[in-house]
Amino acid sequence: MITLPLNINGKKYPVLISLEDRDSYRVSIGKKGISIRIPQSISRDEMVREILKTKKWAKEQLERSPPKEEYSNEYHDGDKLIVGDKEYTLSIMYMPKQSSSAGIINNIISLNIASELSEEKQKKHISVLLSRVIARQRLPELESKIKQLNEKHFQANLNKVFFKKHRSKWGSCSSNNNVNISTKLLFAPDEVLEYVCIHELAHLKEHNHSKQFWALVETAMPNYKEKEDWLKKQGGNLGF
Ligand SMILES: [Zn+2]
Repeated sequence: MITLPLNINGKKYPVLISLEDRDSYRVSIGKKGISIRIPQSISRDEMVREILKTKKWAKEQLERSPPKEEYSNEYHDGDKLIVGDKEYTLSIMYMPKQSSSAGIINNIISLNIASELSEEKQKKHISVLLSRVIARQRLPELESKIKQLNEKHFQANLNKVFFKKHRSKWGSCSSNNNVNISTKLLFAPDEVLEYVCIHELAHLKEHNHSKQFWALVETAMPNYKEKEDWLKKQGGNLGF
């Protein structure tokens, strides 16, 4: 479903609306326009209201900062990279190879990028490797955070914890009680990351989005709705 495009400074941004089996709104501004994902259970009136509100918000955002091109992030040797509350220094070398690799020692990230690839592919390698090495370094921290939250609030049967390069989910949990957290959340405020951890831990007890599930989440984090809201509004900008 598409509504009238937003016209900002002579540029048209399509507004794509999809009704989904979900329980929260999700808005993102991307290269292809504005996408609004709406729970299919809401009323027509509520939907119209939400779309108007979202279009107004998207207009303000786009006027303030026009969307970045995909992979427009440029990284250079010696750059400082701030992720959450940590600062990293990049060391980038281009090698005459087909494959790229990366390592991290203390806060120095060394990237060996295949110079035989196209520039676009090199940029993609940089962003994939960056999120991989940082996720690997931060995993012990995430594991202890999730274990603590689990002991404090749920005492659920928790198996392993992973960072995953999810495209469209913030977290997930598997049938063998593993919890996966999106690498994008490396860039989110601590409390937002904590909310996603709580959400996934609650799924270890309730494998659905029932009332009982949300009650568990709310008991563990009474202001969780603010975090949902943050993800809905700011989440699209997270990541490399
Ligand atoms: Zn869920």
